[in-house]
Amino acid sequence: MYRLERHVLPFVQKPARYIGSEIGIERKPLSPEDLRLALIYPDLYEVGMSNLGLKVLHAVASRLGGVTVERSFVPWPDAESLLREHRIPLYSLESFTPLREFDLLGLTLQSELTYTNVLTVLDLAGIPLRSADRGESDPLVCAGGPCTVNPEPLAPFFDFFVLGDGETALCRITGTLIELRKSKASRKQRLEALGRIEGVFVPGEQPPWPGGAQVIVQRVAGLERQPAPDGLPLPLLELAQHHFSVEIMRGCTCGCRFCQAGMYYRPVRVRSVAAIVETVRNGIRRGGWDAVTLLSLSSADYPAVEELVEILQPELESNGVRLSFPSLRVDRSTLRLLGRLDGGNRSGLTFAVEAGSPRLRGVIGKKVEEENLLELAGEAFRAGWTMVKLYFMLGLPSETEEDIDQIARLVDRVARLGREIPGKHNVNVTLSPFVPKPGTPFQWEPQTGLQQLQAGMNRVRQLVRSRNVTLKMHDPRLAIIEGVLARGDRRVAGLVQAAWERGARLDGWRECFDFALWEQAFETAGLEAEAYLRGREESEPLPWHYVRLPVTEAFLSSQKLQAALGENVADCAEGPCLNCGAEKPAVCRELRLPESLEGEIPSAALPLTRTALTAGPESPVMRLWRVRYAKRGFLRYLGHLDLVRAIEFMLRRSGQAVRYTEGFNPRMKLHFSPPLPLAVESEAEYFDFECTATDQTALRETLERTFRDFTGFQIMALKALPPESRLPQLAADISCCLYRISLDREVLPGERSWLDYIGGCCAERLAQGALFIRLDKKGRRKEVSLRPALEGLEIDDKEPAISVILDVQGENAVRADSFLEWLLDLDRGRSSLCRIEKKESFVRRGELRATPLEF
Ligand code: SF4
Ligand code: SF4
Repeated sequence: MYRLERHVLPFVQKPARYIGSEIGIERKPLSPEDLRLALIYPDLYEVGMSNLGLKVLHAVASRLGGVTVERSFVPWPDAESLLREHRIPLYSLESFTPLREFDLLGLTLQSELTYTNVLTVLDLAGIPLRSADRGESDPLVCAGGPCTVNPEPLAPFFDFFVLGDGETALCRITGTLIELRKSKASRKQRLEALGRIEGVFVPGEQPPWPGGAQVIVQRVAGLERQPAPDGLPLPLLELAQHHFSVEIMRGCTCGCRFCQAGMYYRPVRVRSVAAIVETVRNGIRRGGWDAVTLLSLSSADYPAVEELVEILQPELESNGVRLSFPSLRVDRSTLRLLGRLDGGNRSGLTFAVEAGSPRLRGVIGKKVEEENLLELAGEAFRAGWTMVKLYFMLGLPSETEEDIDQIARLVDRVARLGREIPGKHNVNVTLSPFVPKPGTPFQWEPQTGLQQLQAGMNRVRQLVRSRNVTLKMHDPRLAIIEGVLARGDRRVAGLVQAAWERGARLDGWRECFDFALWEQAFETAGLEAEAYLRGREESEPLPWHYVRLPVTEAFLSSQKLQAALGENVADCAEGPCLNCGAEKPAVCRELRLPESLEGEIPSAALPLTRTALTAGPESPVMRLWRVRYAKRGFLRYLGHLDLVRAIEFMLRRSGQAVRYTEGFNPRMKLHFSPPLPLAVESEAEYFDFECTATDQTALRETLERTFRDFTGFQIMALKALPPESRLPQLAADISCCLYRISLDREVLPGERSWLDYIGGCCAERLAQGALFIRLDKKGRRKEVSLRPALEGLEIDDKEPAISVILDVQGENAVRADSFLEWLLDLDRGRSSLCRIEKKESFVRRGELRATPLEF
């Protein structure tokens, strides 16, 4: 941790990714008796912590006796290079334990574009990349997630794969390893035992022969008894999806032929309304979340969706919590649902149309009627939504130029509708290349090449005429790599390793993806992309032939045939069973519509904590409070906006009725002192809020209890402001601050006392006129007089430290780190070794100077 603080955190973007300072994080030393499990998401923290699968497995593992579970993520390249330079191994966020000290590493593979990240994790952890090179002291490394439909491209890097739902498998795997520990089983013996667990695949040196034993993809029988995430740990850094997600249903019966998840997660299993309501309430009480997402592959198909919304919507709204559904159907059921989702953020509504023409939508099995789409978009615009997002794919099987033209025509129709309805309405269109995925009816189809994809994108760009349309195109070169990795065989492992060794990192990130590295890697590995993008005969053994999916090959084949005939696919939830093989039809029905679906709704509703700014006799009496707080330790690496959001979450968690703003998107009404720069600690930060509490002692106790697990945050004082006072603008009124800067030994000259050294530096600066030069926002040079600061500067005579008052607003404002660099002529690297603490903030009124609590 010491080296991390000294050599890495001050120099990277978003250091909060690497500090694990989450609210409710369990920090306990790793017990040598426990089986130590690290769950790793092979992408950045903010992506990984948005993933429900990771949270579900974390919730499951946390409840297992004899297991300690921690988490880790992939660093951004700036942090990766510093970790390498200073030989700091990749570690877990909870206890900062190097990953190689764990017994088991579990990685989740959600996208082929994270494959090189797997190698980054292993290499940064100091673990041999290939399973064959690992020894007795190395952890076992396993993978789960949807990409394991085809384990072959990563088979040499993993000791074993877990196919299907992870919940039950995780219990069996950890149980087996705990037992084998007692007999001090060798690595080989452990892998042999794990290979006997259903759904576990231990890759041998050669891929399994066709016709041999199959690995059956596992499914949990129902969601009801599976642990659900409880809202903690609460991330401080803004996530890619900063919501509390509750899985309401797993699986989808719509049958879209391109969709891997729709086939892989069959049959549909639901969580009861009562369990969902309880989980949502629990998450808000524990985490204070401001947005809840009811998650599934097709949430509008949840059998009791309207009842669910009817219960949750009013309760959440009165707590300032938004309710959202990520995946909506293009039909009238969505209209009814949207009608119930009153209030909330109405910025964008997303529809996956996928293909422009009815013919091609029939081929791919997408049941979207153009008139329904137009009706829905029109209703949405009229109801206050300002944007409709439309998703399309290019390069679908049997696509013609006419199909592409129809995308542009449809987009223009929606855009025209947006212009005809009063108000500003935009249409955002995303075009993604189609990638045939294993385990779908299109697994045998050829993938469209780069030039043709590019031509299709250009064609749409030229044909779309409307001004209120924004077109976004996914990079077709990424799709080529994704396609090779998705349907690759074991030789593709060599390609992944060659690309990684050449520098491929975080390929899913536009800023990082470098196609040239992959082109070179193809040469090194002696492979050609076309060999993997080609169509396959159904008689040809596929690399993943040994994986027994929930749906049968015969079903996939029949769907491929129907696609070729242009026949749409029926939803088996609405019509007869299509014999996909996932279950017996009666069992499917019972799983989807269990007798206990609604159950008894727990009565303990959330307290009403949101109080809108409504004037009149009905409005509650509000009191204005000012809080002084400290921000210390690792929390100094959290940015201002993230801290503001965390405090909002904490206030919601406290159960206090706090004032919100009015309007479509109400926010908690908070006022903060000026933002504190990253890496500066403080015991003099302030915020104001209004709430209905009147008893200062009781409110302080409540706040202290609520903020207790917010490591690094401390409430220093709480004061009621006089009722007649106008809400003071802390951000504008605090004009100067007192800092204490403790100088690191490395910045001091060894031959002189610090008193002489600092005194000499001050005298020298004064003699030079005490002018500090800074650049304003337009890049112009500004001279700032630091004479008053230097004249008031105090040097500590007990330890090497100075205290100085600096302006934080106006012409003479200067940051404490910049002041230090100027005074001692330090570069950023050396100044960052010194500890800067803000001790007080001051408000000036004429000649008077006082703290914000004194005014
Ligand atoms: S609706 Fe279609 S695309 Fe969406 S999850 Fe279901 S099968 Fe997949
Ligand atoms: S077995 Fe029949 S009812 Fe069940 S998911 Fe498959 S097609 Fe649908």
